[in-house]
Amino acid sequence: MSFCANTGAVPSGICATMEPAQTLGPETPFSYRCTRCNRCCTGKRIQVNPYEIARIAQARGVSTAEARDRFTADSVLRQDAEDRCIFLGEHGCSIHGDRPLVCRLFPLGRVIESGGAVHFVRVDPSWAHGEFGEAGIVADFVEAQGAGPFIAAADAYFDWYCRAREKLATGTMGEGESGLGDLLDIDSQLAAWCGARGLKEPELPEERMRLHLQILDGQIGDDHV
Ligand code: SF4
Repeated sequence: MSFCANTGAVPSGICATMEPAQTLGPETPFSYRCTRCNRCCTGKRIQVNPYEIARIAQARGVSTAEARDRFTADSVLRQDAEDRCIFLGEHGCSIHGDRPLVCRLFPLGRVIESGGAVHFVRVDPSWAHGEFGEAGIVADFVEAQGAGPFIAAADAYFDWYCRAREKLATGTMGEGESGLGDLLDIDSQLAAWCGARGLKEPELPEERMRLHLQILDGQIGDDHV
């Protein structure tokens, strides 16, 4: 069994179409030149985790609650009437610097095996009309997309999700710890938690994510706060 980890806890629509035979490692020769056909932003299911919502909220200057409501439905980026991502503009992605991990890695997907090993896969070539090549390696391509913080976030939320799911399944969540709140609304959770303790909220997205995960840990009884 393998699990798509591009966007966090739940497999995305993109990953469902990937062929296991196309498994790539970090050193595998690979390069891709985008030709701005915009096909990767049309008809796809882009699932986002709390960190990615926070980055989008920051890009648009709104709260995470507003970003969740305006830009997502069931944790998936909304699309227009023509199945285009709502962030796709005349000149490409309008949130390019804060785009989600699955968009950064396209035309690759990142998969975590049940034993924890990570590999990459190529999406269906019919989805990607750019130029594939072997001018670099997978690791260089991933780094060039600025994927590092997004991979760290995806792995951290995925780890939390696995622990929460196990606790729910085994009934070890603990009394009063089942109200997990709105996972996509980091701002409200940090405001409530810090406000109750008279603490200043962290400002950087990565610091806010780390505190959010600590709060979530507390909510499932893995209290490291
Ligand atoms: S967030 Fe940007 S890159 Fe991702 S699907 Fe939407 S328009 Fe495309």
